[in-house]
Amino acid sequence: MPKKSIREEILAKRKHLALDTCLARSLKAQESLVAMPEFIAASTVGLYSPIHNEVFTEEIFRAARAGGRQVVYPRVSGGSLEFVAVEDRTQLKRGAFGVLEPSGSEAVMSQALDLLVVPGVAFDLVGYRLGYGKGFYDRVLHGEKRPGLLVGLCFELQLVAELPFEAHDVKMDRIVTEDRILDYSPQGQASTDTINQTL
Ligand code: ADP
Ligand code: MG
Repeated sequence: MPKKSIREEILAKRKHLALDTCLARSLKAQESLVAMPEFIAASTVGLYSPIHNEVFTEEIFRAARAGGRQVVYPRVSGGSLEFVAVEDRTQLKRGAFGVLEPSGSEAVMSQALDLLVVPGVAFDLVGYRLGYGKGFYDRVLHGEKRPGLLVGLCFELQLVAELPFEAHDVKMDRIVTEDRILDYSPQGQASTDTINQTL
């Protein structure tokens, strides 16, 4: 199936989630994420501001700040994304595509992020990600610009067995949902068993 059809199908499904379902599932996914050893060890964490029923991220922000971590959010800048520190969520202002963006002036390089939480329309079981079709994250995160750990955050209903991918598509190291954590790092072989059992 082409990327466009998968996008439409998953976005339609996610749109129908009720707010309380979104909140409950988001809470579970966020609790799993903030319990990850890499999150606990991180000094700088990248987050996103949710739109269109993406998994909420307020709890991750709260946990990160409570643990004294620097938190950065992406901002669209000249066809690319830049990451800017946010100490308080009131510093986020409505920006490109209706997304809440940071208002500070100093950008942090993506490779300086210990962990980046990445939103998506869909993710597959080898770690590929489907975005809204603009390739922003692909452009910012490839090669030497890659952060320490890329963590896709989504609901179970956004997982598909296999996504079509192109050479520019960036793979995740982990995917966190309300039900599980999928680990694609070489030492994360155990989660492959989970994948085989459940899909
Ligand atoms: P998304 O990841 O948002 O689902 P795509 O993977 O289809 O979207 O990418 C959209 C477009 O972004 C691609 O057709 C490509 O032109 C552009 N793009 C993605 N990554 C890069 C890159 N590293 N360098 C230049 N252009 C890129
Ligand atoms: Mg892509």
